[in-house]
Amino acid sequence: MKIEQKLQQILDKSWSNIRLNREECKYLLSIDETSYASGLIRNTANSIIRSKNDNSAIILGQIGVEISPCPGKCKFCTFGDGHTKFEPSRIGQEELQEKMISFCKEGDLYALYLMTMHEYDLENFLNTIHYAKKIAPPTTQLWSNIGDTDLDTFKEIKKAGITGVYHVCRLGEGIDTSLKPENRIKTMQNALDAGLELYTCCEPIGPEHTIDQLVDNIFIGAEMGIYQHAAMRRVPVPGTPFAKYGQISELRLAHIVAVIALCTVTLPTMAYMGVHEPNQLSYASGANIITAESGANPRDCQSDTSKNRGMDMARCRKMLFECGFTNIRRGDESKIPLDFEYLVKTNSLD
Ligand code: SF4
Repeated sequence: MKIEQKLQQILDKSWSNIRLNREECKYLLSIDETSYASGLIRNTANSIIRSKNDNSAIILGQIGVEISPCPGKCKFCTFGDGHTKFEPSRIGQEELQEKMISFCKEGDLYALYLMTMHEYDLENFLNTIHYAKKIAPPTTQLWSNIGDTDLDTFKEIKKAGITGVYHVCRLGEGIDTSLKPENRIKTMQNALDAGLELYTCCEPIGPEHTIDQLVDNIFIGAEMGIYQHAAMRRVPVPGTPFAKYGQISELRLAHIVAVIALCTVTLPTMAYMGVHEPNQLSYASGANIITAESGANPRDCQSDTSKNRGMDMARCRKMLFECGFTNIRRGDESKIPLDFEYLVKTNSLD
C-alpha cells in the first residue's frame, strides 16, 4: 500500500525528532481516522512515545475538593452556574485522607490533582495542600487543577507543596464559557513563571469542532513549554446545554491523541501524553497517562465520580497492562515493572 509523500515526510520528521508545524498538524488531523494512513500515524506516535520512556506509563489521581455553582458557566460542565444540580460542598480532612490512602496505598501514583471550581477559597485550598502533603508518599507529586490564578498565588501554592498545574484554554473559551481566553493563557504563563510544571489539554473536543480550531488550541500548549499535553473528548453529560450535540468516537479521539503526540513530543520537557477519558485505542496511539478519579468531576452527574464514570487505581493498572505497558513510573521517575504478578499483588485483576 502506497502512502502520500507528504505523510511519509511528516512521519520521517517525527522519527528524526524534528518539530512539526501548524500546517503539518492540520494535514494530519484532516486524515480519516478509519484509514490506513491513520493507522500509520497512530502507530508512529505510539512507538515514539514508548521509546522515549522505556515503555512506561503514569497514573494520575484527581480528587475534587470543592463544589459550588461555578461562574465559569461552561456549557459542557456539570458544575456550571445556571444549570448545575449540585449543592455547594467541600471535602473534609477525614474524607480526603480516606481517598488519598486508596490512591496511594501501593505507592504507584505519579501525581495527585487537587481540583476546585473556577473560584476557590485560597485559605482552604492551602490547608488542603498542607494536609495532603502529610499523607502523600514522597514518590507522589501534588498538582492543582484550579481556576484562573495570579503569579503570587501560584508562588504561595508552590510553597505549600504543589509542583504541577493543569490548566487549559478550552475550545470555545469565551463563547461556550463565561471565561476569557486571555486570562486562561495568562494563568498558564503565571504557573510557568512561578516555577511550576504545566500540563494542558485540547478539550473538550466535540463533533462540531473544525480542524483549524483544534490546531489553534493544540498549539497554545505546544508553544508554551508544557510538560504534558493531552486530548479530551466532550462527554454529553445529561443536564448540560451541550448534551444534545453528541460526541466523537474513541477512534477519532485516538487519532487526535496521536497527532498531538507527534506535534509535541520534540519538546524537551514532554515524555507523557494524556487522554480523557481512558480508552485502549488511545493507549495504543501515543497516550501514556491514565487518570483515576474520585469526588467531584465536571463530566459526571454523581457527586463522587468513583461510583460512576471515574476509574479506580486497579482498573487503571489493568488497562495499562492490557495496552502493553511494562513499567509504571512514580513521581520521582523510578519504575515499577508492570506485569501479571504486579496486577495480582495489587488486586488489580477483575
Ligand atoms: S469546567 Fe471548570 S470552570 Fe467550567 S464550569 Fe466546570 S468547574 Fe467551572
